[in-house]
Amino acid sequence: MVPFEPSALPELLPVFYRRLFPHGAYGRWLGYGGVVKNYFQMREFSFTLRDDVYVRFQSFDNPQELERELQKTNPYKIDIGAVYSHRPNQHNTVHLGAFQPQEKELVFDIDMTDYDDVRTCCSSADICSKCWTLMTIAVRVIDRALVEDLGVRHRLWVYSGRRGVHCWVCDDAVRRWSPALRAAAVEYLTLVKGGAETVKKVNISEPIHPFIRRSVAVVEKFFEAYALVGQDILGSPESWEKVLALVPEEHRGMLRGEFPRKRDSVQRWELLKGQMEWTRRGPGSGKSGPCYADWEVMLQYCFPRLDINVSKGLGHLLKSPFSVHPKTGRISVPLDLQKLDRFDPFAVPTITSLCHELDTAGDEAEQDDGGETEPKRRARDYKRTSLAPYVRVFEQFVEEMERSRRGERLRRSDLQGDF
Ligand SMILES: [Zn+2]
Repeated sequence: MVPFEPSALPELLPVFYRRLFPHGAYGRWLGYGGVVKNYFQMREFSFTLRDDVYVRFQSFDNPQELERELQKTNPYKIDIGAVYSHRPNQHNTVHLGAFQPQEKELVFDIDMTDYDDVRTCCSSADICSKCWTLMTIAVRVIDRALVEDLGVRHRLWVYSGRRGVHCWVCDDAVRRWSPALRAAAVEYLTLVKGGAETVKKVNISEPIHPFIRRSVAVVEKFFEAYALVGQDILGSPESWEKVLALVPEEHRGMLRGEFPRKRDSVQRWELLKGQMEWTRRGPGSGKSGPCYADWEVMLQYCFPRLDINVSKGLGHLLKSPFSVHPKTGRISVPLDLQKLDRFDPFAVPTITSLCHELDTAGDEAEQDDGGETEPKRRARDYKRTSLAPYVRVFEQFVEEMERSRRGERLRRSDLQGDF
C-alpha cells in the first residue's frame, strides 16, 4: 500500500471530492426526504481547512451547493452539527439568543483512549487488531440496546478513521430528542462509572437489570479470546492483582493462593467464575450473599465507555462519515454490522491508496464510458476503488430510511382512507 503523507493532501483532496466522495447518497441522507422544509438549509457543517483553519456555521441551500463548496474549498475534515432555528451561515444577522440548535441525530463517540486503564497492548492513540475487539464489543452492546431496549431503527455506525467508532441514530423522533432525553439514554447505556481514581468502576447487585444481563451475554462471547488470551489479564501476579482488586475481600485470599497453581488466564478465570457462581447458588453460599464480581470484571474490562458530552449536547459537532482523517489519511467509512467481526481498521482505504487505485484504473475508465458525459463518469469513479463496498453500506442505510418513510406515508394515507 502507498503510505499516506499529510503533505500530499492539497493534491489529493480535490481528486477525492471530485471523483470519490459519495455526494448523492450523502445529500439524500441529510435531506431526510425533504419532509421538513428547509431541513438541509438549517444544518451546520464545519470545515477544517489547511493549517488547522477551522470554519464553523457553514450551511447550504441544497446538497448540490454543498458538493460545489466541497470541491471548491477541499476541506481537510468535515464535521456535522445540528439543524438550527435559522440558517447557520446567517447566524450573525439573527437577534442574540434566537439562534438555537433544534434537532440532531443522537450520536455516540467511542474512543479507544478511554480504555487505557484496561488494555495492555497499546495506549493513547495507538490501536492494534487485539484491542480493536473492544470497539466490536462496544458496537454490539450499544446497537443491541438501541434496537431492543430503546426501539430505535436507523443507526449508522462509522469507523472514525483512527481509533474509534461513531454512531448516528437518525430516526425522525430521536432527532427531536431534548438534551435531557439524550442524557437519559446515555445514562441508561453507562455501566462503567468513575474516573482514574476509582478502582472499582462497575457495581452490580440484585435485582439484576435486564440491560446488565443482556450486555454480559454480549461481552461473554468475546471475553475469553479478547481478555483472557489476547490481553492475558490473569497472566502474571501484577495483572491478576488488578483483577483481584475488583473482587470482594473474602474471596481474594483463596484466589491469590490458587492462581499460581493454574496454567494460564483461562484456567484462573474458570476458578474465579466458579467461586462467584457458587455465591449465587442460594442462601448460605456466600458470607455476604450473591456476588457478581465475575460480571463486574467482564464489564469493567470490556463494556463500552461513552463520552456523555458528545451525545448530550445538540450543538456538539461530530466528524462526518466519508471525511478524511487528517492524521492517518483513512476515510471514515460506515461499518457493515453483518460483517463486523471481520472489520479490519488497518484495511480501510486511505485517500492516498484510493487516488492510486484511480490512477491505475484510469485508462480502463475512459474506455468503458466512451459516450457518456463527464460528470456522470466522475460520479461513479469510487466504484472502481476499494471505497465501493463502504459506499454500498451507506447507500443501503439511506435506502432503508427511504423505504420506511414511504411505508409510513402509505400507512397514513391508508388510515385517512378508512374515514
Ligand atoms: Zn492494542
